[in-house]
Amino acid sequence: MDEITILSPHRDDAAFSLYLSLSRWSAGKISLRVVNFFTVSSYAPRVKSQDSAVVSSLRGKEDRRVLHSISKNIQIRSLGLLDAPLRLGINVSAVCEIMLEEAQSITEANRLASAIDGYHDGGVVLAPLGLGHHVDHLTVNSAAISCGRLGRVGFYEDLPYATWTEETAIRERVSEIESKTRVPLKPTIIRDRNSVRRKLRGISHYRSQITHTEAEAIARFSLKYHGERIWIPKFSGLWNPLIT
Ligand SMILES: [Zn+2]
Repeated sequence: MDEITILSPHRDDAAFSLYLSLSRWSAGKISLRVVNFFTVSSYAPRVKSQDSAVVSSLRGKEDRRVLHSISKNIQIRSLGLLDAPLRLGINVSAVCEIMLEEAQSITEANRLASAIDGYHDGGVVLAPLGLGHHVDHLTVNSAAISCGRLGRVGFYEDLPYATWTEETAIRERVSEIESKTRVPLKPTIIRDRNSVRRKLRGISHYRSQITHTEAEAIARFSLKYHGERIWIPKFSGLWNPLIT
């Protein structure tokens, strides 16, 4: 296994959820790739413009700055898909409430699955658990599962959503995925001793998206594990280079 691909619904999810892990893995010999899905967006609560071209470009710059501050070798791919408010014509406040019809949900997941299928070939893929029920995160989660390469798919805890999700709810979500895939998962911590300070410094550059207080809440969540927790297939040795 010499490649890891992070499936990031938006241009910030990979860093919010896996900043410390990416830093750790970038020091080794593994190739890192971040695939951003819904990169056409007018969501930027901290800037005046709501023009999707302006906002999408700004979010792209923020994301490149943060990911390349971890390592210039992280490859960043953008799929150029519309985010939920633009794609579904819904208000930003509804993105964690809307439930797609089953048929629509399957169609969307299959469409995305075909875009990411090749990424499993040389390594492993980390997808969002879908904590917080954001429709874009759930769609990426379903796409990762519907590729069917399940020994090669692990899951990360979506931030900031994990900060207000009870541990029991996180474990219930993991169980749901296990029953769907029939692949048992195990929790693994990617440890970092100076987790809060380092993570805060990194993610604070997403200025169009979060306040300093929100960045602190995301960074402080790493105190729960003294690092970041991922869920990986229990019986696949492919993941060993990432967790040792
Ligand atoms: Zn997101």
